[in-house]
Amino acid sequence: PAADAGARRTSRVRVAVRLRPCLDREEDRTEGPCVRGLDSQNLEITNWRNATETVKYHFDAFHDERTTQQGVFLSSVKPVLPHVLGGQNASVFAYGPTGAGKTHTMLGSPDHPGVIPRAVREVFSQVRTRGGEPEGWDYSVAMSYLEIYNEKVLDLLSPSAQDLPIREDKDHNILIPGLTQTLLQSFSDFDRHFIPASLNRTTASTKLNQRSSRSHAVLLIKVVRTQRAPPHRRQTGKLYLVDLAGSEDNRRTGNQGIRLKESGAINLSLFTLSKVVDALNGGAGGRVPYRDSKLTRLLQDSLGGSAHAVMITNIAPEYSYYFDTFSALNFAAKSK
Ligand code: ADP
Ligand code: MG
Repeated sequence: PAADAGARRTSRVRVAVRLRPCLDREEDRTEGPCVRGLDSQNLEITNWRNATETVKYHFDAFHDERTTQQGVFLSSVKPVLPHVLGGQNASVFAYGPTGAGKTHTMLGSPDHPGVIPRAVREVFSQVRTRGGEPEGWDYSVAMSYLEIYNEKVLDLLSPSAQDLPIREDKDHNILIPGLTQTLLQSFSDFDRHFIPASLNRTTASTKLNQRSSRSHAVLLIKVVRTQRAPPHRRQTGKLYLVDLAGSEDNRRTGNQGIRLKESGAINLSLFTLSKVVDALNGGAGGRVPYRDSKLTRLLQDSLGGSAHAVMITNIAPEYSYYFDTFSALNFAAKSK
């Protein structure tokens, strides 16, 4: 509506759910699926103990187990990219329990590339198209890649940089002084920097006890455009693509604020993200607690306000995931 036009628009976070197919793994094969899609916005989950007890949910989008990587990209991610080229901020994050398909959705595999490679390709494609317009703007694209682990910001493009500070400038832009920014000319440029950095992270995860399921991987694609004609205005759009830590901690600690806070093993950033999304989407009486965690502080200028945010909640169909799925769906349902 009208509010969409102004930069002060306070946006809600679009909530999509993606169900992955059943995997043919020994431990998952015992029973049938507990989640069933109804249509492109609705699904139901069946109680693992009582098959007659089902709960129905409605979301902005439901991507069933047959949805391709391209399908997820076209419906949930491609629409935000023109805003980024136009100087606005956006964020796409994959939420859900470990094993439900977050990394598949964001990163994918060489045969089935996910949101990240598709989005970066599309950014370059749109930059080429727009850069050819005679009255237009010149574009430059840069990447940063970081991990938030135990409330510390680590630069994945320069692994010696640990615990970087997060700052806010006078125009309320969030920045990380000292974070590597690599200029990119093309998609292959991106690949060349991103793949070794991703491998850094994977290697670390096997050494450090499932670190990858406890940390948030945050890719930033920054698009700066400069008007060719006077007054040579300059605008920056940021796109955050985030593979979040596994959400299963919420279930173990009962998903109650006080108990979560008291538990030593909680992921503060993930818990705060749930409060921020809830507040942006109309719950929790207005105050948005961005400053309560590193992740939300970092994403502050790319979640609410004039930004375009998409949360893809990944869920698994197997009964072994029942509690994690139920808790992820309740979080996602609360967030819309
Ligand atoms: P997470 O990152 O949430 O822990 P992964 O992305 O690693 O989960 O997915 C767990 C497993 O399920 C992987 O083997 C992955 O290849 C597979 N998988 C996830 N989503 C899909 C999908 N939509 N189609 C096929 N396989 C998938
Ligand atoms: Mg993963």
